[in-house]
Amino acid sequence: MARKSTTEQKNASVAEFVKAVHDGQIDVVEHTHRVLEECKIVNKEYCYFNVIAEESAIAQAKLIAKNKKGILAGLPMSIKDSICVKGIESTAGSAILKGYVPPFDATCVERLRKAGAIILGKTSQDEFGFGGFSTNVGVGFTIPKNPFDKLRSCGGSSGGAAGLAQKLTVPHVALGESTGGSIVNPASFCGVVGLCPTYGRVSRYGLIDYGSSLDKVGPIGKTVADVAVTLKVLAGFDEKESTTATVAVDDYSKFVGKDVKSLNVGIVKEGFGEGTDPAVERSVWAAIKRLESAGVNCKEISLKIPIEYGIPTYYIIAPSEASTNLAKLCGLRYGAEEKIEGDFNSYFSQVRARHFGKEAKRRILLGTFTRMAGYRDAYYVKATKVRRLIIDDYKKVFKKFDALISPTVAILPPRFDEIAKLTPAQSYMIDALTVGPNLAGLPHLNMPVGASRGLPIGAMLTADHFNEGKLLQLGAALE
Ligand code: GLN
Repeated sequence: MARKSTTEQKNASVAEFVKAVHDGQIDVVEHTHRVLEECKIVNKEYCYFNVIAEESAIAQAKLIAKNKKGILAGLPMSIKDSICVKGIESTAGSAILKGYVPPFDATCVERLRKAGAIILGKTSQDEFGFGGFSTNVGVGFTIPKNPFDKLRSCGGSSGGAAGLAQKLTVPHVALGESTGGSIVNPASFCGVVGLCPTYGRVSRYGLIDYGSSLDKVGPIGKTVADVAVTLKVLAGFDEKESTTATVAVDDYSKFVGKDVKSLNVGIVKEGFGEGTDPAVERSVWAAIKRLESAGVNCKEISLKIPIEYGIPTYYIIAPSEASTNLAKLCGLRYGAEEKIEGDFNSYFSQVRARHFGKEAKRRILLGTFTRMAGYRDAYYVKATKVRRLIIDDYKKVFKKFDALISPTVAILPPRFDEIAKLTPAQSYMIDALTVGPNLAGLPHLNMPVGASRGLPIGAMLTADHFNEGKLLQLGAALE
């Protein structure tokens, strides 16, 4: 049988690509070589990788070539740097973890490998996930550039993942992570599909923690079908991770193309108007009209509590958790090792002072303060109570609606020089629409729905817990 060249595979879906691998139409080793070459060329200009794992990718490709099994057989995949991959330096974009090579795979990576995926490398991100523009990279790391304009941000914190998902010309799915919006935000800025699953749907074992009650791993790809097939591989209970759910895993691909007639979608009123770019509004409204023509009932609703209190609540809970999670990093057990004289305390503070970036230090200070005796009740404990109100508000809405829609991000991807002028508090506002579902642990999906001035625009769909299927169903109706 004639082998299909890589060029012919360019617009193939993951399913078509994998079928061609199963049928012996693709030489997986040769293909992987070519993809790695493309990655190197793209990376020179756009900085999507912290590590390109050439040797191990080829070794894996050789194994797959012999045993072409698995629903992701031969598929090139990239992994956000904060997710541990055995044998490949995994730093979460931080100098403090420089040189850390995990002796194990994160559960999500293990599952991808079992399904036949080939790991290309680790993608660039804000240090530990602290940011919405991928500009808060660790000391010595590079900032990923928007695939549509190199002077602009990819979004964050999974910026490298989303940029690569857009830029690679061959079938590819990137693994991202979201604490407060880091899957849908960069997916929106890079014009790709990003799915953040329900908290507990995908194991966090082997994820370098940001905020443990918030972190989720999810796929970013070119189409709804591509993220659906990947989610199926990732999802499910993991005995190594006690917050994973035992809820049955759906066959997500079955929702792609399913009729959306009579589904009820709430239009989040607060996502429009002041602060939202008119071009973003127009594209999202056009998407709503498309859903309506497909038979979806759309109705405006108010999500006052999540939108109004989301940012302050999130920016107390997330740094509180981050500051405890980062306490273990001092260059003794993992990563950066230094020859520093003195006792443990002075070693600890010197290593951390040198190797944490500015935003990481800010989050540690902020989170330590909000958890401190005397302030804990006023900040951390109070924020957890508001979080409960936010969850209750969503739960009430989902009694009537199958999903919610709003812009993912209110603005078009900004230029780096514009981002540099923002105060930290201003930069946190980029997450205004995404922190709600993240605090509530709800699945949410970014769909590319238009463009303005050559830059992509995304709409965010949010559904009730474990209703990823409905998101994919509605998302596919917007493709
Ligand atoms: N931008 C948010 C933050 O800085 C969310 C990041 C994320 O989801 N990892 O915390």
